[in-house]
Amino acid sequence: MENKKKYIILKCDDYGVGNDENWKRFIDICIKRNVKANLGINAGSSDGGAYPFLKRVRYLVKDIFGLNNDKKFWKYTRELIEDGGLFELWNHSYFHKNFQEINDLKIVNDLIIKNQETVKRELGVTMRAFGAPYNKCSQLMQESLEALQDIKIWLYGIPNSKVPFVLSVIDTRIADIEDSNSKPNFEMFLKAYTEKINTSISDFLIIQLHPARHNSDSSKEIEKLLDFLLEQGHSFILLKDFLKRVSADA
Ligand SMILES: [Zn+2]
Repeated sequence: MENKKKYIILKCDDYGVGNDENWKRFIDICIKRNVKANLGINAGSSDGGAYPFLKRVRYLVKDIFGLNNDKKFWKYTRELIEDGGLFELWNHSYFHKNFQEINDLKIVNDLIIKNQETVKRELGVTMRAFGAPYNKCSQLMQESLEALQDIKIWLYGIPNSKVPFVLSVIDTRIADIEDSNSKPNFEMFLKAYTEKINTSISDFLIIQLHPARHNSDSSKEIEKLLDFLLEQGHSFILLKDFLKRVSADA
């Protein structure tokens, strides 16, 4: 029996963080195949002054892409999301914090809203989705997202929250390409995929990636993954395509 065709949402975490060459390589792999990918951005820069504990977080936008300059980073990103329509940004929090360790709603709101507003200011883009750093969700996070009208999708979120669309781990995560060290392993993916694809009910599958951590060897595994999924006849979609599809069904 032929597998049902799925819509694949590539959930690429930590855009704006880490090794620029690795990100560029991943982006080129997608462009070469015309594959759409959703980039979860941490837009935080060194202006975390309001929260001294956040100063310890050294994930600085200006350190990536070898550009060492916020303006160049935003220019690169603007061109990326405008050219060819292959990429969409989603909110991965201003800083990459474990929200389960934050007990203050004001800080939770600030981390989410500041990221939202920075991207809006720099790129004129309203992000429609949120995904938690480390996928560590909390009740305060739920409260914050439910009050934020912009956010329509919560990736790997808490089921039954009032965020319009929660793409839960249970429904959408059938096979991981990365092991627990974020190292891609296509054989591991293929095994889980083969076992579960026929029992998966959702039309949408999420595959989580951390491109900043993929060296040139592990990028080959990503290429195998994307080629396999294309060969299987699945379609890669952006989160805005997801919203269009689910609204059309409603
Ligand atoms: Zn992350």
